Amino acid sequence: PQSVDEMAGAFDVRRTDAPLPAEERAAALASPRFGTVFTDHMARATWSDATGWSDRRVERYGPLMLDPASSVLHYGQEIFEGLKAYRHDDGSVWSFRPEANAARFARSAARLALPQLSTADFVGAVAALVRTDLDWVPDGEEASLYLRPFMYASEAFLGVRPSMEAEFLVIASPVGPYFAGGVKPVSIWVSEDHHRAGPGGTGDAKCGGNYAASLLPQVLAHEQGCEQVCFLDAATNTAIEELGGMNVFFVRADGSVETPELTGSILEGVTRSSILRLLTDRGHDVVERRIPLTEVRSGIQDGSITEVFACGTAAVVTPIGRLAGTDFDLTIADGGAGDVTMTVRGELTDIQNGRAADTHGWMTRL
Ligand code: PMP
Repeated sequence: PQSVDEMAGAFDVRRTDAPLPAEERAAALASPRFGTVFTDHMARATWSDATGWSDRRVERYGPLMLDPASSVLHYGQEIFEGLKAYRHDDGSVWSFRPEANAARFARSAARLALPQLSTADFVGAVAALVRTDLDWVPDGEEASLYLRPFMYASEAFLGVRPSMEAEFLVIASPVGPYFAGGVKPVSIWVSEDHHRAGPGGTGDAKCGGNYAASLLPQVLAHEQGCEQVCFLDAATNTAIEELGGMNVFFVRADGSVETPELTGSILEGVTRSSILRLLTDRGHDVVERRIPLTEVRSGIQDGSITEVFACGTAAVVTPIGRLAGTDFDLTIADGGAGDVTMTVRGELTDIQNGRAADTHGWMTRL
């Protein structure tokens, strides 16, 4: 396998001569609102069916030139990823399982009929960008640099077939701790009228269309006083799948833990698989299976389900305090953050932030 130096070295760094002045960068880093401020550069590579990937580079962050007939604008042929770079106490900068994001990106590309990008180019682009914009990686407690790799169909052609041209980019945005005032449980609305994905669809790919489909149900959840929406399976409308941007776990009174099995319509979270591993290591009985909503409702009511939490790159682990739907409104245990939830959250953030030994080999130095 190639070293990070070799992978990043494939990208030609063309530094901007007008980076944001240090004082303005410091101000942006001091109170970043998620996804609003971007670093000085972006990594990029260009693909065509005729020549493959070429022109790997890091260039000034800025608007894209896009032909109005670009197929992404009409047919949504687009995929993306989300991961973070963390600054450890000694100043070194690391990412968490970037090869897992690269593998998922490759699976998403296959499903959306986009070109394959190698793990070396995926990790190389991330490393080349982070190295160029190193001063943008925050060093505060649980602050990080959010990285957004994405690929879109750029061919100017209105025929409905896979694009013969594509662009791959990575942009980066500093983020503060997700829960500034301490971890706070969220409330969830179970969507019984809308689905984000169905059997044979694109639910297990990270493509923009899945998120477009989740926006209206998310608005409806807000109207019901809930912060997030939970989707059921489209085939039967009875089994819990996931939230709009997070996977979900249930902790039982006997210490066993359950999460919905991967059916093809659920996104396989990197956080989800890491938590499955950490809980197994801690001796929890961990089960991936079909989880009916009726079972969750009765489990919360009779006290056999003691904790529910969501997980994903952005918030790591988020306790769920309340689960509601058209004919139910349930508080989970006392509505607070449970012990298993907070313990696994601490374990994961300690590894990511370099406070605990990386015994699983999950961290890559950028
Ligand atoms: N499900 C969905 C629909 C998501 O968008 C995300 C965020 N990528 C996740 C689950 C969690 O995935 P990860 O742990 O890799 O961030």
